[in-house]
Amino acid sequence: MCNATPVRLRVVNDIVPPSPNGLEVVRVDTLAKYNYPHRYPAVLLNFEGVKNPRAFAADDFEMALRAGLIPDINVSDVKLAFRGKNLACRCPLPERGKPDYCPVVRLLRIANED
Ligand SMILES: [Zn+2]
Repeated sequence: MCNATPVRLRVVNDIVPPSPNGLEVVRVDTLAKYNYPHRYPAVLLNFEGVKNPRAFAADDFEMALRAGLIPDINVSDVKLAFRGKNLACRCPLPERGKPDYCPVVRLLRIANED
């Protein structure tokens, strides 16, 4: 059993980066295949009540997934598909020490929790 912690990696120029920790890398750069609209209307994201649109979108995705509101994928599917694997998508990686608002990070969290 490998003790490495799965991480989120970035696909650049359509190239999946090599694994930094020996775990398999799975490309998950669009959530569209899970029928999740990975985008929000600009009018919503510019609404001043939404302080951090990317965090808002990631929170919404995670809540919808946990609540069983996303067709064709649920928490069990995520664990089965992604547990113990690194996930790669096209979102820029955050600056060192800053939070990563990519929704794929939420998949990582769900996949690897008990
Ligand atoms: Zn992403």
